[in-house]
Amino acid sequence: MKRRAFLSLTGKVGATAALGLASWRALAQTAATTAPLAAPAASPELLARAAAWHAQCLTLDTHVDAPLVMLRPGFDLGRRYDPAADLSQVDLPRMREGGADAAFFAVYMAQGARTAAGHAESKAKARQLFDVIHTGVGSHPEAALLATEPDDLLRAAQKETRAIFIGMENAWPLGTDLGLVETYYQRGARYITLCHMLNNEVCDASTDTEKPNEHGGLSPFGEQVVREMNRLGMMVDISHTSDATFDDCLRLSRAPIIASHSSCRTLCNHPRNLTDDQLRALRDCGGVAHMTMFNAYVAPVVEAPERTAAMAELRTRFGGHELSPAEQIERREAMKTLNRDFPVKLNTLAQFADHIDHAVKIAGIDHVGIGTDFDGGGGVVGCLDASQLPAITAELIQRGYTQADLQKIWGGNTLRVWRDIKKAAA
Ligand SMILES: [Zn+2]
Repeated sequence: MKRRAFLSLTGKVGATAALGLASWRALAQTAATTAPLAAPAASPELLARAAAWHAQCLTLDTHVDAPLVMLRPGFDLGRRYDPAADLSQVDLPRMREGGADAAFFAVYMAQGARTAAGHAESKAKARQLFDVIHTGVGSHPEAALLATEPDDLLRAAQKETRAIFIGMENAWPLGTDLGLVETYYQRGARYITLCHMLNNEVCDASTDTEKPNEHGGLSPFGEQVVREMNRLGMMVDISHTSDATFDDCLRLSRAPIIASHSSCRTLCNHPRNLTDDQLRALRDCGGVAHMTMFNAYVAPVVEAPERTAAMAELRTRFGGHELSPAEQIERREAMKTLNRDFPVKLNTLAQFADHIDHAVKIAGIDHVGIGTDFDGGGGVVGCLDASQLPAITAELIQRGYTQADLQKIWGGNTLRVWRDIKKAAA
């Protein structure tokens, strides 16, 4: 059932950046380098084995922000773009090239006002993002299918097509309306990342410095949300939540929980990363921790003051109002210039793989997966877009992972935990 030529382990490299139309943070921390990249130290024999093994794996990336790029006027998911020239990391041709069978496309939005007006705005934005995913995937029936069940991944692989799942990043669009959990489930969402940078009505976030302990974890409404997600068989995603929220979810959830895109705090001390105790807790509940390539969660990044200043200027110039299509293009070009003039130092594929090693050491091979965060700030030297996923396989083979290990990391573990969550619902 699988397929296709191996590619681009030594292929295209260069500057990349993610453009989130609503995500200045992603823009600020995004992958951008003009430094020459070393070719992976890989023998032809290793490349051949990596190609064969990668092709035999069912690969599922649990978090990409492609829908933000899909909002751009004229963007076509069926066309091949370039990370540097187009500030895009995911499209169907590159998923095919990279042997990516499936990905969770995120209905993501930065946290906004927690008022009736703010919640109405978040609902409208969520509707727009669901629409853009449905339309974008639906217009390429030969290349992709909109997927809602674990078995859809197998179905897609058999048909040599891509399975596009939906996850929501930030429960802000729930407002305070429990009924909306099922509404979003009906539209295809199969996990909800409970929060983003700031607290919402559901829970405390790990990075809300103004109110670090507003709810003390999950709010009473958040507890209802977790129960409702359990009832529906949705995956509760604790990436970005506070440690207290993590504990509450663990205590309350009848089903295993996941982290769709988080790395290891022991290797990179960021509050969004998972502690060793959290990795063990995910193991003990049957969950899965998906390692992410977001630059600042792989290793600390020191931003040059010139870049910080230039970013602030860009925000002032384009922030605070809805951008016209022409302004969006203008901003994209300004971002490319900024990336060229003040490149961010990108972390490497080897550093990313160190997180996988550590998570496997602490949680075990059955509890680790991958959520790249492409188009949301993800990407490392050696793996800059969806076409370069086989480089991860090659790196892990070099580190001694077996074919069975890779099958678990690339999707087997995620499918298992998802099925368990559905069983618990039934
Ligand atoms: Zn995120």
